[in-house]
Amino acid sequence: MSVVVRAPAKINLQLSVGPLRDDGYHELVSVFHAVSLVDVITAQRGEGVQVSMSGEGSESLATDDGNLVVQAIHALAQHAQIDPHVSIHVEKSIPLAGGMAGGSADAAGTLVACDALWGTGLSREELADIGARLGSDVPFALFGANAIGRGRGEEIMPVLGQGQFHWVFALADEGLSTPAVYRQCDTLRQGEQIRPPEVSDALLHALRQGDANALAAALHNDLQPAAISLRPALRSLLEAGVEYGALAGVVSGSGPTCAFLCRDSAHSIDVAVAMTATGMCRTVKRATGPAPGARVVTPTG
Ligand code: ATP
Repeated sequence: MSVVVRAPAKINLQLSVGPLRDDGYHELVSVFHAVSLVDVITAQRGEGVQVSMSGEGSESLATDDGNLVVQAIHALAQHAQIDPHVSIHVEKSIPLAGGMAGGSADAAGTLVACDALWGTGLSREELADIGARLGSDVPFALFGANAIGRGRGEEIMPVLGQGQFHWVFALADEGLSTPAVYRQCDTLRQGEQIRPPEVSDALLHALRQGDANALAAALHNDLQPAAISLRPALRSLLEAGVEYGALAGVVSGSGPTCAFLCRDSAHSIDVAVAMTATGMCRTVKRATGPAPGARVVTPTG
């Protein structure tokens, strides 16, 4: 039998970075939005643990113990007190180190796939507890849709919304390291009084209304100045997206992927074509959100 799971990328509609905590993490408020750009995780019974990857960035990703897929397999097996026997293949579409939490999506997808394959029957909440220890964004990748994330981003609360939003993503040649972007954010804000972050009411209202124009006006990412200062070309990329008609552009998470919000599907095709023609990014992808969290799409026997 094999189990196929689709696990979504995320963008942060809002990412507000608060003060640095004693444990070295920043206090965050994030409004997560899962999108239909997915990694596909296929799990089959095997001897021991076998992991292979193809697609976006996979050539530079080792399948050793540092890989979040391998870590997720062992974490679930340990929790369920079983010997891990599984063969997993991940077809990646989510850019590596792109600020879209592809590694967390793979970890979430692996937890769901192994849970189904091994019949461990854990709830989403139990999987999220295991996932939170693997990475702050793993719980959200399990729940998907729209959610507020607090703490390091791992405390998830669903957000009501309606309608679908249409996005164009501009993928860069090279990723950005998340810790390096946070360090740069600290450097840029040195001497500033950093207040505890709060969720934007305007953003929540835009989601409830399904209003793309209001959402465009409310998009906000505190890491954007840091990402731009490390990768200055992002500034002109963001400007170009808006010039070519996007309602707004924002750096996704720690970057360097830029997300452009469009009015509807046809508009997103126009923006994607225009962005491709600029030659300012490696690849352009379209997706919609909110998308469901990591879920089994085809168990075959
Ligand atoms: P973040 O969740 O911090 O925003 P990101 O989206 O920028 O991360 P990811 O692609 O999730 O970037 O991966 C960040 C790092 O995690 C990679 O550079 C890689 O070293 C490591 N990693 C481990 N396993 C995986 C995996 N299965 N897929 C992607 N990255 C992985």
